Amino acid sequence: LVELSHVEKHFGSLHVLKDINLSVNKGEVLVVVGPSGSGKSTMCRTVNRLEGIDSGVIRIDGKELPQEGKELAMLRAEVGMVFQSFNLFANKTILENVTLAPMRVRHMSKADAEDLAMDMLSRVGVDSQASKMPSQLSGGQQQRVAIARALAMKPKVMLFDEPTSALDPEMVNEVLDVMVGLAKEGMTMICVTHEMGFARKAADRIVFMADGRILESGTPEEFFDHAQTKRAKDFLSKIL
Ligand code: ATP
Ligand code: MG
Repeated sequence: LVELSHVEKHFGSLHVLKDINLSVNKGEVLVVVGPSGSGKSTMCRTVNRLEGIDSGVIRIDGKELPQEGKELAMLRAEVGMVFQSFNLFANKTILENVTLAPMRVRHMSKADAEDLAMDMLSRVGVDSQASKMPSQLSGGQQQRVAIARALAMKPKVMLFDEPTSALDPEMVNEVLDVMVGLAKEGMTMICVTHEMGFARKAADRIVFMADGRILESGTPEEFFDHAQTKRAKDFLSKIL
């Protein structure tokens, strides 16, 4: 469903992605881990062209990502993204935050978009907050709204870039639980996270990145219990 092939990316003289080859199947949950600065966020962002690439190919559902234009907007709509900072529109209600893209991009009627938004908000357990403003919600609730907003576009794949890193500890689990639920329902997901409990429980596959390269790719058991490279073993010894 998502395929990266020989992807290279520089920021000026900094070589941040080095020959990245990765394919994520439909329904697969891929967890990306690795030290700070290894290129995890950059890789995630290339998947919906928030970052361009220097060379290589990225395909979504068999279609190569174009550089720009209408086709890019259409493919991008298939990719839901949730960031560390929730990025909700502060001057819009929770409901409006979720109906905006379906109305603008999918041309849904307001009534249909609102029905859909309420379904998505109840799926993540914040439907009772629909008429509030983002600032009236806790961080965990806001992040769940951000997930509902992405789901409302009916994406083929969801990207999560450290969605729980900015949360108070007591709110981490409410967001991880939503992600585990999505994984169980068969959503295709690419998740950058430091939550190793989640990685063990929800990942079909774990990819370890260091210095812009994928050094390991395997099942949670292979990665946590039988890491091959010294970099991965050092990383695991620091976090486990
Ligand atoms: P973290 O765990 O800290 O989030 P990461 O693995 O997500 O790290 P990236 O954010 O992808 O790492 O960054 C990879 C490298 O690219 C880092 O050295 C970073 O400083 C650099 N970098 C990221 N974005 C830019 C940018 N827009 N311009 C220049 N350099 C950048
Ligand atoms: Mg990052």
